[in-house]
Amino acid sequence: MAVDWWFWPALASGLLLFSRIFMVRIAWRAAVLSLRSARKVPDRLTVLRVEQPAAVTWLGHATALVQLGDAFILTDPVLKDRIGTVQRRLVEPGVDPAHLPPIDIVVISHAHLDHLDLPSLRLVTGRGVIVAPHGVAKHLPRDLPFAQIIERKVGESYEHRGVTVTVTGARHWGGRAGVDGLWDRACGGFSFRAAAGTVFYAGDTGYDAELFAEIGRGQPPDIALLPLGPARPRWAMRMNHLDPADALRVFDDLRAGHFVAVHHSTFIHSTDPPHEPRREFLALAAQRPDAARIHVPFYGEQLLFTGDGERLTFAGRRGPNAAAVDVAAFGPWR
Ligand SMILES: [Zn+2]
Ligand SMILES: [Zn+2]
Repeated sequence: MAVDWWFWPALASGLLLFSRIFMVRIAWRAAVLSLRSARKVPDRLTVLRVEQPAAVTWLGHATALVQLGDAFILTDPVLKDRIGTVQRRLVEPGVDPAHLPPIDIVVISHAHLDHLDLPSLRLVTGRGVIVAPHGVAKHLPRDLPFAQIIERKVGESYEHRGVTVTVTGARHWGGRAGVDGLWDRACGGFSFRAAAGTVFYAGDTGYDAELFAEIGRGQPPDIALLPLGPARPRWAMRMNHLDPADALRVFDDLRAGHFVAVHHSTFIHSTDPPHEPRREFLALAAQRPDAARIHVPFYGEQLLFTGDGERLTFAGRRGPNAAAVDVAAFGPWR
């Protein structure tokens, strides 16, 4: 079917206008919510090392402290009040960065501002290693306080302190400044294998049944750290971000033992009300027969896991807990 000459320019300007309205809505929401300072988390843990073979502490957004045996892993550390110049976090980090243990392995899934924050990396102690997907290290200055910066392609591994870190694929994009994402596709997730157990961290990703079934093949992860959003508008997010229902599909595809929710309720970068993906996720998870294996920790809450030699099982929680605080200040936690 032939179309008039004006069709394509009209379509292009329509799409441009539409995307501008969408970006302005997000920027407006972020600006308004950034006017108030970050909520304080009461009773933050000061000692993070535990006797159990594994523990996961959610610090906010995509940042989680994982203890596997003796090794400490930190995912996408964002520990400051702001990212970039204006984006302010809604809630302070669930652990005071000064109380973080020496970190053996930091993983950086991609260079977006909410995952790679240079001032935060300078707060990490321990002179461990940074592991990142191929193409991410060019965004890291050489004077960071780490012994080594390691890049691996998808499927390749690096072993450190008894943990084998393997870079996995993700349906997302790379770059740092926005427009460089058009040609920079460096991004990924990670699987961590140790004698104590296996943990998977997805980074930012859209849904892909084959990708996650493949990652779970053979030895499904004991624990999967998966993002809940940003979810809306779905037409814009679907390709590159999970929503709560997608996150549960990934959990099933991986055949993972436990779900730990990350990447929600900390920064504004979608049209979702800030706590909406978490609220929606809690409602979906509650209907499932395996709800006891699905965890949405509070900021700074530490989940403990014990081993029976085969798989890790949930063994309780420590630290700040939604039941112990005025949850209204943090959004609808229950
Ligand atoms: Zn991203
Ligand atoms: Zn992100």
